[in-house]
Amino acid sequence: MSNARVVPYFCPYCADEDLRPWAPSEPEETTDPHPANAEPKAVRGAWHCTSCTRVFTVAFQGMVIPNDVTNHPST
Ligand SMILES: [Zn+2]
Repeated sequence: MSNARVVPYFCPYCADEDLRPWAPSEPEETTDPHPANAEPKAVRGAWHCTSCTRVFTVAFQGMVIPNDVTNHPST
């Protein structure tokens, strides 16, 4: 187990497999109807689903060690 990230295999929204790394600095179809809105400039590790055109990131939330897995015959 390493800290290196692997690429996501499926889009979490449409489950398509055609995901590509997305760079926010790259002008890709700049048809933003709301240019005044703050753009996510610091997005790193984002993925662009070419099927549903969504851009998403995979965020690490921490680690959870389940208590139920270990054998604890409490009663
Ligand atoms: Zn998708």
